[in-house]
Amino acid sequence: MPDSISCEVLQRWIRAFARLVADNEEYLTRLDASIGDADHGTNMNRGMTAVVAALDSAENVASPAALFKQVGMTLVSTVGGASGPLFGTLFLRMGTACGDVEVLDAGGFARALRAALEGVVARGKAETGDKTMYDALAPAVDALEAALDAGGSLAAAVRAAHAAGVSGRDATTAMLARKGRASYLGERSVGHQDPGATSVALLLQAAAGVIPARSDSSSGSASGQP
Ligand code: ADP
Ligand code: MG
Repeated sequence: MPDSISCEVLQRWIRAFARLVADNEEYLTRLDASIGDADHGTNMNRGMTAVVAALDSAENVASPAALFKQVGMTLVSTVGGASGPLFGTLFLRMGTACGDVEVLDAGGFARALRAALEGVVARGKAETGDKTMYDALAPAVDALEAALDAGGSLAAAVRAAHAAGVSGRDATTAMLARKGRASYLGERSVGHQDPGATSVALLLQAAAGVIPARSDSSSGSASGQP
C-alpha cells in the first residue's frame, strides 16, 4: 500500500503544531524582540488557538483541501502583521494544491508543500538568504522531494524535511535581514535567529511527529519497534 495521509492525521498535525506554538510562544516572541516588534509568538499563538477552536467546533472536516482552507482562512483573519498573510497563504495554497481527494498520498503532500512555498514567495517576495521563514521552508521542501524521488518512505522524507528545516532555521542567525521588519535593522539583524523560520521548524517538527513510521518496515529496528 502506498504511503498516504488521512484527513485525521492532517488534523493531528495542525493540532500538534498549535501545541508547539503555545509551548514556544514566549521563545518566539523573544526572538522577535531582538529583530522585530516582539509579537511573533503572540501572533502565532492567537492564530493557532483560533484554528484549534474552529476544528473543535466543526462537525467534520471532509477533505484535506477543506481542512487547509479552514486553517488558512482562520490564520488570515486572526493574525495580523506579516505572519498572518504569510502563514495563511501557506495553508490556503496547500489546500488548493490538494485537489479533490479524501486522502493525500506522498506525492500529493510534496506538491502541497511546494505550492505552500510558492505561495509564501508570491506573497512576500523572499529569496534565499533574506532571513525569513522561506529559509527554513525552501530547504525542507527540497529535502522532502529529494527523499521521495530517491524512493524513501513518506515518514523518512518528512523527517528529512524537518532536519533540513532546522538547519535552514539555524542558518538564518548569520544572515542579514532583507525582508520584513528585521530588514530595518540592517547589520544589527545579524546574529539573531529569525522567528518566522523558527515557527516553520515547529510546523515540520509537528509533521515528523504525526506521520507514522510504519512504512519504514524494511528498516524496522530504526523506529525502535520490536
Ligand atoms: P511582523 O513582522 O508584522 O511583526 P511577525 O512578527 O508575526 O510579523 O512575523 C515576522 C516573521 O515574518 C519574520 O521572522 C519572517 O520570518 C517573516 N517575514 C516577514 N516578512 C517576510 C517576507 N516578505 N517573506 C517571507 N517571510 C517574511
Ligand atoms: Mg513581529
